[in-house]
Amino acid sequence: MDSAIPRFYEMSLDERLSAVKKFACLEDSEIELLRKEGAMDNDVAEIMIENVVGTIHLPMGIATYFKINSKDYIIPMAIEEPSVVAAASHAAKLARESGGFFAKSTDPVMIGQIQLKGIDVKSAQLSINHHVEDIKALANNQDSTLVKRGGGLVSVECRPIHTERGDMLIVHLNIDVRDAMGANAVNTMCECTAPYIEEITGGTASMKIISNLALHRMVHAEAVWKSRDIGEDVIEAILDAYAFAKADPFRATTNNKGVMNGVDAVLIAAGNDFRAVEAGAHSYASMSGRYLPLAQFSKNKDGDLVGKIDMPMAVGIIGGSTKTNPIARIALKILNVKSANELGEVAACVGLANNFAAVRAMVKEGIQHGHMKLHSKNIAIIAGAAGDDIHKVSEQMIKEKNVSVSRAQEILSAAGGRKST
Ligand code: NAD
Repeated sequence: MDSAIPRFYEMSLDERLSAVKKFACLEDSEIELLRKEGAMDNDVAEIMIENVVGTIHLPMGIATYFKINSKDYIIPMAIEEPSVVAAASHAAKLARESGGFFAKSTDPVMIGQIQLKGIDVKSAQLSINHHVEDIKALANNQDSTLVKRGGGLVSVECRPIHTERGDMLIVHLNIDVRDAMGANAVNTMCECTAPYIEEITGGTASMKIISNLALHRMVHAEAVWKSRDIGEDVIEAILDAYAFAKADPFRATTNNKGVMNGVDAVLIAAGNDFRAVEAGAHSYASMSGRYLPLAQFSKNKDGDLVGKIDMPMAVGIIGGSTKTNPIARIALKILNVKSANELGEVAACVGLANNFAAVRAMVKEGIQHGHMKLHSKNIAIIAGAAGDDIHKVSEQMIKEKNVSVSRAQEILSAAGGRKST
């Protein structure tokens, strides 16, 4: 199926649902669930977290035009911020001109950490290295399902560290978690091997927990935006913006927020632990000792813009809330990803697309132009508009190129509409 669905943004909600149904071969019951306002029942919410008093909803939009590794995707994105879905689609449409995105990833290996205290670091290290196979067997016994699928403990590393409270040995369990995000699997393996590691080292294993700096679980994505489509001047300005972000952490932070707009929106829709990926991304951005942009931009020999991104990507298509959240289940079906790696590659491509689109908009007309156009309805609501007034006030503000709460209140008062107090 072709993800280049022209004028998707102009369709009614029903028309969009029918296009998505066709693309993703959704069942009528799944369409009904998407149409239902408040698709998660409180009893499902109570299975997920504690002290539930309700659920909160986010809009889920579909980004179109994505081609990744020659496969077409329509991409569910759950986010409260206007412009992000449109920006991703637009960047994907432009990237399609040069074949779309290309992405690859490493094996899905997560790191579990065991903090060993009260030991002689050197002899503890020797002892652990001597018993790696026993540690492996112990860990893998915990999760036969994972092992059956080709996952499990891959290797054990020892990292001596000096801390303000003395020397410690940090034992890393590198665990292939296959299609899971892996936090529970990794934490379980850390906890079950820790007593044995205490026994062979004579130390105390205190913390036993996953690291969200998933350095062994990396994704790379890239795309080319042609000079003839975006203009030589814009390419030069994007390269200047990239140089700005590389040299200035204030800018780099906002730049990376633009990446995470896309990544998080995909991961939230897919029921994933987006905080884990956020934490890993920002930590990875600081690995050189300076906080840097996650995506790099350069010009190729044809003068076209090349965007590349590398980032840790701890995501799953099973486990966590991927199956309990009914909308996440449908989002994963729409995404049609066959592995956690493929989901990570899609998320990284969307992050790169959003980064490109935001910087391009800023160096062209400024971000507020498109943003405020979409945001004007929110502004109208803040000003107290309800029902038909929301649309009227928003249209008037766009016509006047003055999108502000004060102007919205004036328009409402003039029309005799409701005004916020
Ligand atoms: P999980 O335990 O729900 O599911 C993983 C399990 O599914 C595996 O251990 C395996 O037994 C089984 N499985 C079946 N088919 C599989 C396949 N094809 N590939 C891999 N495993 C398969 O989930 P999880 O992914 O271990 O943990 C994710 C959850 O942990 C998330 O909800 C996350 O929010 C939470 N969490 C995160 C942190 C963190 O620091 N990021 C810490 C604790 C918990």
